[in-house]
Amino acid sequence: MSRKSGRVKRIVSRLFKERQIYHRSDGVVHFISMSTNTQIALAGVIGAFLLWVAYASVNVVFKEQIIVAKDKTFRTMETTYLKQIQSQKAAYDDVNTLNVLTEKEFEMTLAEISSRHQTLQAMVERKAGIDARIDALADNLSRAGAPNGAKPVNGNRVMIDVAPIEPTPRQSRLSVLRREALDEARKKTSAAPPGSPAAAALQKIESSASDLYIEQMYLLAQLEERAEDMIDTLKRVVESAGLEYADVMPAAKIANTTLAQGGPYIDASNVSDASTAFFRHANRVGLAVDELRTLESVIQSVPLSSPLTVARRQTSGYGVRRDPINGRLAPHFGLDFSAAWASPVTATAAGVVKLAGVKSGFGRMVEIDHGNGFITRYAHLHRITVRVGQKVQIHDKIGELGNSGRSTGPHVHYEVHFKGRPKNPRRFIEAGRYVFES
Ligand SMILES: [Zn+2]
Repeated sequence: MSRKSGRVKRIVSRLFKERQIYHRSDGVVHFISMSTNTQIALAGVIGAFLLWVAYASVNVVFKEQIIVAKDKTFRTMETTYLKQIQSQKAAYDDVNTLNVLTEKEFEMTLAEISSRHQTLQAMVERKAGIDARIDALADNLSRAGAPNGAKPVNGNRVMIDVAPIEPTPRQSRLSVLRREALDEARKKTSAAPPGSPAAAALQKIESSASDLYIEQMYLLAQLEERAEDMIDTLKRVVESAGLEYADVMPAAKIANTTLAQGGPYIDASNVSDASTAFFRHANRVGLAVDELRTLESVIQSVPLSSPLTVARRQTSGYGVRRDPINGRLAPHFGLDFSAAWASPVTATAAGVVKLAGVKSGFGRMVEIDHGNGFITRYAHLHRITVRVGQKVQIHDKIGELGNSGRSTGPHVHYEVHFKGRPKNPRRFIEAGRYVFES
């Protein structure tokens, strides 16, 4: 230790041996004497200064690098952030487009669907009302039975069971309609760029809407088919009663009621091609339903039932016969039915009582006006139970079976008149069986 410090002391005293610095100015020589200690102190001061300069320089250089590195990180972050904002904005734009487009599309689609639905609903309800009235008539007619009182064997009623089971030519027309409807629905082009969420959402709306459209077109076609089927059946009833269809149908009435039943008014410029096709078809179906409605109302005034709903026997037919009292050939414009004395005599269709009293030869007689040109007469009654002007429904009691007037025994003489001409009532009662026989 002491040897080592002795060597350091020797090196220091050799490095910093006492020095004198001479300085000459204006011929005078000055000198500064520097002791070893002074030199060591000076060297210490210089050394410390140099160290400080070195530290400061290094520090400055590194700080610059730190700042550059920090700046770089910041710039990277900034870029990433901007990119995120841009992508968010794009996503927002897409969502916004989606909202605007889908909302518009949805509203338009919904408006069309619901206006088509209203049209359909109005027609279905109208048709259901007609069905219910025909159903009630069929029930009444099946209760009264054939002219001799026979009831239907199986009770199947074609009028009520109208759902088609076997494919018909009209049904193959339905599949054509279905295809047409699908094509129409697919024609609609989307305003959204392909592949975007908006396009996908619109696609979804469009496909749901076209499904509904197809269903609505299908229902419409089905409604038309059923209305036409029922018109055909009621036509057969009219024709089998010996009447001309054109004769019983009030033509002007059909034309006038058509437009009123067309459903809500739709501005053509706001409606897609598909809906235009729907409403064009709906107008046709409306025509068929209107025709059915008119025909149904006519059918309700056709006396298709029998004046007696109790056990009865037809004793005299319609046409020229030998008079039971004077034995001469004479026309007989009605049917004679015999049954138990004072059996209830009932209206053969709904109507208004036009006559209720004694008429020469007919005895106590009731005459009912059923409307649409149909009138029925019930003669030789024992008692009359209705007054003139009274409204009656089918099978309402109007009197009791008797023997009044020019009669040889208790019976009811029954007549049917259409537009002032006598008709064979038997054909009417038999035609009524079409309503309930399969
Ligand atoms: Zn008679």
